[in-house]
Amino acid sequence: MRIAVFAGDGIGPEVIGEAVRVLEALGIDGLELVEGDVGGAAYRKHGHPLPPETLDIARSCGAILFGAVGDFSLDHLDRQLRPEQAVLGLRRELGLFANLRPATVFKGLEDLTTLRPEVAAAIDLLIVRELNGDVYFGEKGIRTLEDGRRQGYDIMSYAEDEVRRIAHTGFKAAMGRGRRLCSVDKANVLDTSQLWRDVMIEVSAEYPEVELSHMYVDNAAMQLVKDPGQFDVVVTGNMFGDILSDQASMCVGSIGLLASASLAEGTFGLYEPIHGSAPDIAGKGLANPMATILSAAMLLRHSYQLEAEASRIEAAVSKALADGVRGGDLGGSAGTREIGDAVIARL
Ligand code: NAD
Repeated sequence: MRIAVFAGDGIGPEVIGEAVRVLEALGIDGLELVEGDVGGAAYRKHGHPLPPETLDIARSCGAILFGAVGDFSLDHLDRQLRPEQAVLGLRRELGLFANLRPATVFKGLEDLTTLRPEVAAAIDLLIVRELNGDVYFGEKGIRTLEDGRRQGYDIMSYAEDEVRRIAHTGFKAAMGRGRRLCSVDKANVLDTSQLWRDVMIEVSAEYPEVELSHMYVDNAAMQLVKDPGQFDVVVTGNMFGDILSDQASMCVGSIGLLASASLAEGTFGLYEPIHGSAPDIAGKGLANPMATILSAAMLLRHSYQLEAEASRIEAAVSKALADGVRGGDLGGSAGTREIGDAVIARL
């Protein structure tokens, strides 16, 4: 069980440190953690945000636990040398095509969201977003029409195998949760969405235990704030998922609690908090490590099928929050190490 640990910049090393302590506290047999450099830290040491040695480590491991990258003092560099390129490079090189973002409102934190507490309390959903296709990757440009007007264009397309692959990810995730999958599209207007919907229905035959429903993206955006408790797993394309996953995240209330996974075919995945390197609080021991700790739980679940251990971590985080352990991002005063200790004590 060889896991790559890429801490990165800013608060990355601090939050990763606590997630590693939590993983080690579980006492899992054969756990091996291999550190590698990414982001600004890698640029300073190797001249590149994603050096070949780091990619080699990633390829030799079954999963990556990732902190954060980003360093404003390197913003003058060419785009391909900026720290943020490390995440994009790993996605590209390792074929990470599915992004999973859970959104759960923990007991006691209902007042932190901008939704009414009784609406927020019901949120426990997972957004599965396709990452490699859609309008972001189609032919694009700005051209001049015959009459001299400029026209921008971006072609939206999905091939059926691309839809089938993310459909399987969605159905499998639903099997491990509430067995309800809502596919979000815009099939009333877009042919790409009609194919998406047809393929979702085809794949659903392989998962008879999962209840499949369909929703147009505009309605999904409304339902996410009106009645988010109705959703279990939501599967959608790259652009709709980009927007809806951020919307769902903010229904939770704090950036320090939000984990994510980017999965390849098979069991390989990269797991990271959704926050960045938070240079304003880096090195001060103030960062909330819970999002990274919850990312480690996702790693155990999705890359190693260690459901019991993953649930233990999630329950420990939930208990710590219910007991009033709050970082600065949640209006409390607990520091990074203190939060790590609190979670470990509740494992
Ligand atoms: P950010 O997420 O780093 O910080 C936004 C705000 O949230 C800051 O006030 C920060 O202090 C706070 N915050 C973030 N994580 C926290 C935590 N765990 N505990 C407590 N407070 C927390 O976003 P930003 O300031 O826009 O970006 C900073 C750098 O991070 C930039 O260089 C950006 O490009 C990079 N970035 C990287 C990733 C990534 O690694 N995947 C994601 C987003 C941003």
